[in-house]
Amino acid sequence: MTYTYAVLDVPEIVYATVRALLVSAGYEHAFHRGRDGEVLDMHGIALRLGETSKRSVPWTPEQVDALNRWQSCGWVHPFTCGSCGGLAQLHATVRGWICPYCDYTQEWAHEVMFGPLPPSPLTAQDTVTTLPRDP
Ligand SMILES: [Zn+2]
Repeated sequence: MTYTYAVLDVPEIVYATVRALLVSAGYEHAFHRGRDGEVLDMHGIALRLGETSKRSVPWTPEQVDALNRWQSCGWVHPFTCGSCGGLAQLHATVRGWICPYCDYTQEWAHEVMFGPLPPSPLTAQDTVTTLPRDP
């Protein structure tokens, strides 16, 4: 007997977080070991966005760089101005987000935005892998 998966490679932090949540919920049966290591069989398991943590200003120059990388990467939705109809993309500064066209500011960002960018879906390779079932 084999399992057939569409395997999506995710960042370590994503995998570790999902794995810990499944273990705490008693879903150890979802872990399978294959040629390339462990995979999580998510059949019948849906994800939804839980509470996110936010970080308020002031931000360091390195944090500002991370936020502006997020804004300009092209594969995540950027923060936009709440006054200019959502068409103006905000720019991060050490004192917070600013709109280049009006005086709108925002003094928080999602914690995840200070870390590495998520992988681009434009280059991600979904692969189909057939793994032997554990005895
Ligand atoms: Zn604006």
